[in-house]
Amino acid sequence: MTVSGIHHMTCYASDPQENVDFYTEVLGLRLVKQTVLFSNPAEVFEGEPIYHLYYGNEIGEPGTAVTFKPPGTEATRGAIAEGEVGRGQVSATAYTVPEGSVEYWHDRLTDHGVEVHGPKERFGDRLLQFRDHDGLPVEIFEGETDVEPWTDGPVPAEHAIRGFYGATLRPHNALETGGALEALGLEAVGQEFTPQRGDWTRYVAPGATRAKYIDLYNTPNFHEGSWGYGTVHHVAFRVPDEAALRTVRERLRGDGYAVTAMKDRKYFTSVYFRDPSGINIEVASAEPGFTVDETPDEMGRELKLPAYLEDRREQLESRLIDIDV
Ligand code: ZN
Repeated sequence: MTVSGIHHMTCYASDPQENVDFYTEVLGLRLVKQTVLFSNPAEVFEGEPIYHLYYGNEIGEPGTAVTFKPPGTEATRGAIAEGEVGRGQVSATAYTVPEGSVEYWHDRLTDHGVEVHGPKERFGDRLLQFRDHDGLPVEIFEGETDVEPWTDGPVPAEHAIRGFYGATLRPHNALETGGALEALGLEAVGQEFTPQRGDWTRYVAPGATRAKYIDLYNTPNFHEGSWGYGTVHHVAFRVPDEAALRTVRERLRGDGYAVTAMKDRKYFTSVYFRDPSGINIEVASAEPGFTVDETPDEMGRELKLPAYLEDRREQLESRLIDIDV
């Protein structure tokens, strides 16, 4: 059992409204889920809730979901420091658009005041590079995918984002990080060299039809990253279901990785580990998905909570920063 590409990526953000505006109005993704972080109940019960916002295609299918954890309350505004992208992190998120769409996106982003670099080319595909509202590195690649885009957003269907293309990882040691990717079943398929900067090694999830590329950008003298807004917290790879997740977990444990227990994330089940560089990696099940607690029509408009937080709903809702979707 190997993973079949990316399930989701999770990033920090400094402000929930700016985050909604950038990812829905500029990139044209759909906000598919408004909830709070489940992973640290102390933040919810004893301190301040942290938003967890999910964006993707119509139902946030695996391979399309980018998630952010902006502050949830006025008291926590500014509490998340600005991060610095560097080694030991996922250093860029990359989305897929159809062939011939890069010029549209260059104009669109420029019109929204975003500074765009490119078109460039990596492993034969054209791309643009830019940063989101918090300085998080984002790439848009022309490429093939089986993802249907969200078409009720501001971007015409012919150019709309079709989920992830992949992610860039900046390792401390490219061989060790490559080993972790190989333990997940990914295969190295090519190398490119950037004079005086670093070298790229591309990994692909064999047989995957979407969100399948991981590029290791090996920059030995680059500084170490620090966590905070403008950085990616983790990349999650996908498997079909819990049984497959259990198999992948056992294989990783057999290879010597310290893997967490299986965790119920309501919309998927997950395990987590770190590669030897400290890069946070998750493996998540495609089932049951974001339609488990609201219909495709309803998605993203109201705060959804796990069962154990429902009795705190009123208190949570009274404290959360209002966001206009
Ligand atoms: Zn995750």
